[in-house]
Amino acid sequence: MQPFDFVHAKDDAGAIAAASRDGSKFVAGGTNLIDLMKSNVELPSHLVDINGLHHAAIASESGGIRIGALARMSDVAADANVRRRFPAVSQALLASASPQVRNMASIGGNLMQRTRCPYFRELLFAPCNKRNPGSGCAALNGDNRRHAILGGSNACIATHPSDLAVALAAFDAVITLRGKSGDRHVKATDFHLLPGDTPHIEHDLRPGELIVSVFLPDAPHASRSSYLKIRDRASFEFAVTSAAVGLDLAGGTIRSARVALGGVGTKPWRSTAAEAELIGKAANDATFRAAAEAALAGAQPRQLNRFKVELAKRTLVRALGDLAGGAA
Ligand SMILES: Cc1cc2nc3c(=O)[nH]c(=O)nc-3n(C[C@H](O)[C@H](O)[C@H](O)COP(=O)(O)OP(=O)(O)OC[C@H]3O[C@@H](n4cnc5c(N)ncnc54)[C@H](O)[C@@H]3O)c2cc1C
Ligand code: SF4
Repeated sequence: MQPFDFVHAKDDAGAIAAASRDGSKFVAGGTNLIDLMKSNVELPSHLVDINGLHHAAIASESGGIRIGALARMSDVAADANVRRRFPAVSQALLASASPQVRNMASIGGNLMQRTRCPYFRELLFAPCNKRNPGSGCAALNGDNRRHAILGGSNACIATHPSDLAVALAAFDAVITLRGKSGDRHVKATDFHLLPGDTPHIEHDLRPGELIVSVFLPDAPHASRSSYLKIRDRASFEFAVTSAAVGLDLAGGTIRSARVALGGVGTKPWRSTAAEAELIGKAANDATFRAAAEAALAGAQPRQLNRFKVELAKRTLVRALGDLAGGAA
């Protein structure tokens, strides 16, 4: 492991100043960063511990719920207001990692976690544009069974690993970032970036900027929502495909809908095309299948992950069907 110094930040200004130095990283739960430091994928020279900052609250505000970036995944999943007003968010968190990891891991760290692409995480594989810009991509013609079918480029096809981020993309969450020049508010759908030619640039986060909170706006399609995750084993595993869905129904007709997919995109994949297929239609299998076709219309699978196209469609149809059935 590369040597680094360690600072306990006492306030936001101190944290931001300390993290603005070249080679700095914040550390919260450490469940992703420390792993990657041990394998020399991450090489910070300054670690800024932010656990002493006051950003762990989960609070109702006018029109929604604000979740502090240092709230732990297990606390957010168990929060009564989150469970009632955003069930998909609670379910996405409970489907993530293990109880032990969720007790340590923070909401901010979850959004910032790096991809699980095995070539990224293992230095033995030289080509990885995300880890070493310009070196190539071992996954393009390698073991790409778990890789993205939406949003990829010739530089990178790694999936975004977070389940929570999929639910936040679906339900119009807004992330508050704090930096030297004050606060900015970025839509969750804009926070994670497509790889394009620069897959090492993953977020709309400026040097030294701290995620301080996530705001979830109340809506009828958010309180009737769910998260379905398909994985290779029943627990402690990342998504092969997943869907965060919300429906507001009037009788059997869909008044409003939200759809985002996980496990298939290089970023959490909100599908407004699928939503357009749902709104104003009868809540039945034909409608759900049309939405799934729209969501996957631009899919570009590789040799080992063609199965994901149909699996993602079925995941979405099942998630919508279960939700509509449960609403009857
Ligand atoms: C075995 C295992 C299984 C897992 N399975 C899943 C899964 O199924 N689904 C899933 O979604 N996740 C899964 N995870 C990932 C886990 O959710 C993340 O490791 C965790 O959420 C990261 O949070 P942390 O607080 O520990 O972040 P840290 O490791 O402390 O930090 C991660 C990154 O976030 C940055 N960061 C942290 N907080 C902030 C902030 N407030 N502002 C700006 N930057 C910040 C750090 O600088 C670092 O770059 C798994 C992890 C493990 C170890
Ligand atoms: S898919 Fe992305 S992360 Fe994986 S090897 Fe290619 S460039 Fe690296």
